[in-house]
Amino acid sequence: MDTIRKRIIDLLSEMEMTAIDLSRELGIREREVLAHLPHVARSAKATGKSLVIIPPLCENCGYGFSERKRFTKPGKCPICKSTHVRKPQFKIK
Ligand SMILES: [Zn+2]
Repeated sequence: MDTIRKRIIDLLSEMEMTAIDLSRELGIREREVLAHLPHVARSAKATGKSLVIIPPLCENCGYGFSERKRFTKPGKCPICKSTHVRKPQFKIK
C-alpha cells in the first residue's frame, strides 16, 4: 500500500482530522490529500472499517450538511448564504 495512504489511515484511526490537518501532518498539499481519500476509503473497507465523513457545518446558522458525501467543503450555506462553513472532518472506525 502507498505509504501516504497508510499514514492517513493510521492518523484517522486515532483522531478526527480535516484535509488541511492531514496536509500539514503529512507535508503534502490539501488537494493531494483529497485525491488520496477515495483510495483510503477503499483500503479501510478492505480491512472491515470505513472512512467516516463528519459533515460540514454552517458556523453562522448551524445548518448541517448531513446529506453531503463529497470530501470537499461546500462554498456557502444554502440556507443563510454564509461562507463561514466548517470543513468536513474525516475519521476511520
Ligand atoms: Zn447558514
